[in-house]
Amino acid sequence: MEIAADPWPADESNHNMKTDICVIGAGPAGLMAAIGAVSERISVTVLEANRAAGRKLLVTGGGRCNLTHDATIDEFVRAFGDAGRFLRHSLHEMSPEAIRTFFHDRGLPTTVESDGCVFPAKGRAPDVLRILQNEVERSGVRLLCESPVTDVALQDDGFAVTTPAQVVAAKRLIVATGGLSWLGTGSTGDGYRFASALGHAVIAPKAALVPLVTSEKWPGDLAGVSLSDVRIRLAGASRRTVSSGAIVFTQDGLGGPAAQDMSRLLADELADGGHIIALQIDLMPSVQEAELDQQLQQQMAASAKKAVSNALADLVPRRLASTLRKLAGCDGDTPAGQIRKETRRALLKLLKALPLHVTGTRPLAEATVTRGGVDRRQIDPKTMGSKLCAGLFFAGELIDVDGPCGGYNLQMCFSTGTLAGRAAARQLAGL
Ligand SMILES: Cc1cc2nc3c(=O)[nH]c(=O)nc-3n(C[C@H](O)[C@H](O)[C@H](O)COP(=O)(O)OP(=O)(O)OC[C@H]3O[C@@H](n4cnc5c(N)ncnc54)[C@H](O)[C@@H]3O)c2cc1C
Repeated sequence: MEIAADPWPADESNHNMKTDICVIGAGPAGLMAAIGAVSERISVTVLEANRAAGRKLLVTGGGRCNLTHDATIDEFVRAFGDAGRFLRHSLHEMSPEAIRTFFHDRGLPTTVESDGCVFPAKGRAPDVLRILQNEVERSGVRLLCESPVTDVALQDDGFAVTTPAQVVAAKRLIVATGGLSWLGTGSTGDGYRFASALGHAVIAPKAALVPLVTSEKWPGDLAGVSLSDVRIRLAGASRRTVSSGAIVFTQDGLGGPAAQDMSRLLADELADGGHIIALQIDLMPSVQEAELDQQLQQQMAASAKKAVSNALADLVPRRLASTLRKLAGCDGDTPAGQIRKETRRALLKLLKALPLHVTGTRPLAEATVTRGGVDRRQIDPKTMGSKLCAGLFFAGELIDVDGPCGGYNLQMCFSTGTLAGRAAARQLAGL
């Protein structure tokens, strides 16, 4: 295919524009795709619905942007479960190490926290976005904001990409419109429609990495209480269904990374509805049960005249201590020194295996990522190109791929974006 000599041939009179590669969506995947696509004599245009690029990127990691994880490619592949193999090639194209180097080389050093999460050293998501935007600008990519794509169609020699202002004729098309959560950031699911129109199957989107809703009402009394390191497992189930890390009690259940990771592991079951899933939370995973029993006995003896929940408050947050005391059936006035052995055993059990029953999750709109999306079996993992429609590529959360909390999902966007961009450019150049 011949490459345009003039990178921006445009017909201003009828508001039509030609470009070699058109990227829909200026999130992390779309921006990296555009950066990856840049090469000599290839024009790249990004169409973004919002007034500015990367709105979701700005809210990542609570505004700090957990941009990747300090893990090997093999560990990444394992973390993505069934989708891991699909990602391997893209992870080699832009590895976790390479993305840190990418930002470092552009003046943004990163730092690894004790749990392996990687953040910009100054902890500011806008700095990450600024680097991506600068790179796009420096590379001569045309970024058109306030350009919501309404329709895509095949035409001679490529695609017709329609916005309210113009029709963009593109030889290659990269769709990077994100999933279906946090709609206010621009990810409204349009890409699924475009993929379907071009012949692709879309796996029903569902919430992943989202707070859990429980049948127990008591978490609501503890809303806002958090614990930094717990272990959640399915009651009586396999060892694989386990998540660890921080939790926070919410009005109707449980949030925080460990709960969100569990929501991802249970996503398919929970999306079916009608299930009640029994979980057990180890509130003190670093202490063995026998050791904790001794600690409890010492605690009760040392605080013999205090109320039980006050004695417990040395082990867990005060409000949680009070709830545990009630769940153990212990009277509020009972002095710690007088609790019965069975009550102490009940407290011990609650600390090591607090039971909660999950009935569902908060809605998809509130999820950190979307599970489901463009069926990855119809995408070539070596290029991110469509197996069904020549010249079409996909990148980012739009694809049926989701990873755990901890920077895995942004890394997936950077990797699939880079691969899609580079592969589209290579294809166009006939390489
Ligand atoms: C609160 C929150 C915190 C998160 N924190 C982290 C974190 O710390 N680490 C991590 O790894 N992941 C995190 N994630 C997940 C991560 O942000 C997403 O997986 C990632 O942003 C997806 O990137 P994307 O480029 O595929 O899609 P998006 O970031 O959703 O970008 C898609 C872009 O496409 C545009 N678009 C959509 N439709 C159209 C259209 N028709 N025409 C033109 N443009 C269109 C949208 O406006 C948007 O700008 C977080 C998510 C949320 C919601």
